[in-house]
Amino acid sequence: MTSPVPSKAASPADKEAHKPSNFLRHIIEKDLLDSTYAQRFWGGSPGDAAHHAAGQPDPAKVRMRFPPEPNGYLHIGHAKSICLNFGLAREYGGVCHLRFDDTNPEKEDKEYVNSIIDAVKWLGFGWENNGESNLYQASDYFDFMYRAAEFLIESGQAYVDEQSADDMRHNRGDFGHPGTNSPYRSRTPAENLARFIEMRDGKHEDGAMVLRAKIDMTSPNINLRDPAIYRIRRATHHNTGDKWCIYPMYTFAHPIEDALEQITHSICTLEFEDQRPFYDWLLERLCEGGLVATPHPRQYEFARLNLTYVLTSKRKLAQLVYDHKVTGWDDPRMPTIVGLRRRGYTPEAIQLFAERIGVTKSDSWIDYSTLEGCLRETLDGSAPRAMAVLDPIKLVLTNWDEVMGGAMLDDCSAPVHPHHPDLGKRKFQIGKEVWIERTDFEETPPKGFFRLFPGNKVRLKYGHVIECTGAIKDEAGNLTSVAATIIPDTKSGTPGSDAVKVKGVITWVGVHDALPAEVRLYERLFVEAHPEAGGKDFIENLNPNSLKVLNAFVEPSLAAAKADDKFQFERHGYFAADRVDHAAGKPVFNLAVGLKDGWGK
Ligand code: ATP
Ligand code: MG
Repeated sequence: MTSPVPSKAASPADKEAHKPSNFLRHIIEKDLLDSTYAQRFWGGSPGDAAHHAAGQPDPAKVRMRFPPEPNGYLHIGHAKSICLNFGLAREYGGVCHLRFDDTNPEKEDKEYVNSIIDAVKWLGFGWENNGESNLYQASDYFDFMYRAAEFLIESGQAYVDEQSADDMRHNRGDFGHPGTNSPYRSRTPAENLARFIEMRDGKHEDGAMVLRAKIDMTSPNINLRDPAIYRIRRATHHNTGDKWCIYPMYTFAHPIEDALEQITHSICTLEFEDQRPFYDWLLERLCEGGLVATPHPRQYEFARLNLTYVLTSKRKLAQLVYDHKVTGWDDPRMPTIVGLRRRGYTPEAIQLFAERIGVTKSDSWIDYSTLEGCLRETLDGSAPRAMAVLDPIKLVLTNWDEVMGGAMLDDCSAPVHPHHPDLGKRKFQIGKEVWIERTDFEETPPKGFFRLFPGNKVRLKYGHVIECTGAIKDEAGNLTSVAATIIPDTKSGTPGSDAVKVKGVITWVGVHDALPAEVRLYERLFVEAHPEAGGKDFIENLNPNSLKVLNAFVEPSLAAAKADDKFQFERHGYFAADRVDHAAGKPVFNLAVGLKDGWGK
C-alpha cells in the first residue's frame, strides 16, 4: 500500500497569516510593541535575580510554559493548552518551557512524566531553544521556595499559624464577613523563623501548623486573607525523596516557578483568576527583595475546554481506567492524547481543532462534532482509499461463466486517492462471488432505496453493473446470499461502460481475495452530551454500545497496512490500523471518524 501523502494544506507561512487574532495575541503583540520584556536577561537556566543578571539578553522574545501536574495522562483539554502555549511562543519568536508541576508529593508518577513528554512531542512541539532544553520540574525549585518563604518571614510578611484547621477556616470569614486575625499573627520575625525551621526539621506533626502570607484578613478577595504557603506533609517525593517534610502550596509555588524561569506570559484557566492578586502580591514582594528578576511574569486567564460527551479531568479519566470501564488510558474511546492517537487522530487534526475553537474569556461547551470535523478535514486530503465490507453477505453473480467466457476473475483498479493520481492505483479482482454489505440489499425496498432489491440495477464500484435477481435462503428462511446477474460491457473504465444508467453504487470485495480483518466501531463514550449534568454520576451515563467489534472483509491492498496507517474505507469513514493490536496477517482497524454522507445513496 502506498504510504499516506501530505495533504494539500496551506504552507506554514500562509497558515500563520490567516490565524484569527484573539485577546492573548493582542496582549503579546502589545508587549512586544512596548518592549515590556526587551531588557530581560536570561541566565541560561532557571534561577534567581542574580543568576539571570549574570546572563545574556534573553534571545527568546517571549517565554511561555505548559505546566502539567504529572498525575495522569493528558487529555484534549491539555492539548488546547499545549497548542496555545507552544503555538504562541513559536509564533512570536519565543520559547515554551515544559514544566512538571510536581510540588504535590503524593499523586505523581514517572509513568505520567514520560507520557506527557511523548504527548507534547507527538503534537509537534518542542522545548529546545539555542541548544537549551527547557524541560523543568518545579520540585527542583524547592530550595529557592524555602528561601523565598524565609525572606517573607524575615521581612514581616509571613507567619507560622498554629490555629487548628477548624479555627483557621472559621476565622477566614466568607464573602459577607471579613476574617479575624489569628492570635499567632503578631509573632516577631525571629519567633516565626525559629518555628518555620522547626517545621522544616520535622519537629512538628503533619497539620500542626502552617506558614501563612501576612496580607489582609479583611480583603474582599478571600485568597488574600493570609493564604497558607507552606504545610507539613511527611511524604516521599518522586524527585526529592525524603529531603523535605514541608511542601509549598500550589498558589505559592506557581508564581515562583514562573519567575525563576523568566516566563513573560503565564496562561492559565479561568478558575485561577481570583488567585491573580496573590500571584502579583508575591512576585512584587520577591522583586522588592531582589530575589527574582524584574519585570515579573504576568498571569492571563482563558476559558478551559469543555467538550460535549467528554470528561476533561485526569482524576475522572483515571476512575474509568481503574474501574475497567475502558481498556486503559489509551483506549480509543478516551479523550486522552494517547487515546485519540490510537483512535486515528493526527497532530494536524488536533492543532486545527485548537485553532478553530480559539481562546475566549468565558466558559462554554464545544460540540464533539467540531473535533470530528477537524479529523475528517485533515485526513480527507491524505488518507489512501480502500474498500471494506463491514457486515458482509455474499453476492453470487449467477451468469458469470456465460458472460465472462470462462475467465475466473477480472482485473479491476481504483485510484489510491481521487485527488492524487500520482499515487497510482489499487488493484483487485472481481469474480463470481463478492462480499457486499448486508444493508445494501432489501428484499422489499423501502421508499427511496436505490441499492440492491430484486429487479434493480446497481454498479459494483470500480466494477460492473449488475441486476439483482433475488434472495437465496436456507431451509429456515434465513438469507444466506444474494443473487444477481452481471450486465455485459459495463465494467468501469471500459468504452461505453456507462450506457446503462443506475442510481446506486455499492462497495464490495472479492470473496477470493478479501482479507479478513477485525474492525472496531466506536460511538461516544457517554450517552449524554453533559455526562455529569444534574449532579449525575458519569458512570451511569456510559454508552453500553460505545464499542462494537466486527469481523469484516477488506480489499487485498490493505495487506500492506502498518500500525497507525490511516485509510478512508469508501462510504464508511476514516480508519486507523490499531497501534497496539494490528499485525501483518491479523489486521485490526479502528473507526476514527465516519464520513459525513456515508450511507443512503
Ligand atoms: P485535571 O483536572 O485534568 O488534572 P488540571 O488543570 O489540574 O486538569 P494540570 O496538569 O494542572 O491539570 O494542567 C496543566 C495545564 O493544562 C494547566 O495550565 C491547565 O490550565 C491546562 N488545562 C487543563 N485542563 C484544561 C482544559 N480542559 N482546557 C484547557 N486547558 C486545560
Ligand atoms: Mg491540577
